[in-house]
Amino acid sequence: MKLKRRSFLKGVVLIGLAGIGLGEGDAPAIRPPGAARDFLARCIRCGKCGEACPYDSIKFFDISAGAKVATPYIDPVETPCYLCLRRTSEGRDEPLSEYLLCGEACPTGALRKIRNDRDTLLALPEELKMGVSVLNRDLCLAWQYDSCGECYYNCPLRDDAMLAYPPNEVIEGAVGIRPHVNERHCVGCGMCNYVCPVNERIARATMEPGRKLTYFEERYAAMVRNVIGRAGPGVELPAVRVVKRV
Ligand code: SF4
Ligand code: SF4
Ligand code: SF4
Repeated sequence: MKLKRRSFLKGVVLIGLAGIGLGEGDAPAIRPPGAARDFLARCIRCGKCGEACPYDSIKFFDISAGAKVATPYIDPVETPCYLCLRRTSEGRDEPLSEYLLCGEACPTGALRKIRNDRDTLLALPEELKMGVSVLNRDLCLAWQYDSCGECYYNCPLRDDAMLAYPPNEVIEGAVGIRPHVNERHCVGCGMCNYVCPVNERIARATMEPGRKLTYFEERYAAMVRNVIGRAGPGVELPAVRVVKRV
């Protein structure tokens, strides 16, 4: 179970937890940007990264997470990392700050300080990235139905991290785009994961009798039902997901 930082801090004594430096446990967490291999040893569970995040993207583990208790994570299904960018009415992404605010606020360097500009983000060392996105073409509405493209249009590093077409691949009869993750530049912010309509929420909504679908849900509902039905039980959603780099 996960709690937001404030409610967590009210109920748990943190003394003695800092700097224990244990491993990441079974499922490695998606950390905010700038978390290197020594993250757990350096993080003093102060919560300053979460306070600094303008989008409330950073959540904190509760006591059931063992060594990860009170450390920050990002759940892209709920709220991705916006890379401290603001989208203008003309559709341009502008930095909100000179440095990513979570790393700038971190007092111990558990989250490294990272300049908030595109070139720096594109060249970010692998260990400082949050993760990497993985796209399942069998579930993807662009690959299956020439539709959607939400991940591509919403990627803050569009045309570098998320490409409109895979390079070096000939695609017969494509009308729309065929999104492709460029692992070299993807920082794992989770925006694609967040906006992809092939997700559990929409799949459930389409099955609830009498439920009025939103415009967004309505647009993709039939296709979502089809691709998920074809994929069968146990398929991992959404069609594009951020995973930890190994
Ligand atoms: S980079 Fe910015 S938006 Fe992303 S988690 Fe850090 S503070 Fe939040
Ligand atoms: S948002 Fe999802 S379904 Fe849409 S193009 Fe991207 S991966 Fe495919
Ligand atoms: S996680 Fe998705 S949205 Fe974020 S940089 Fe990678 S491809 Fe782009």
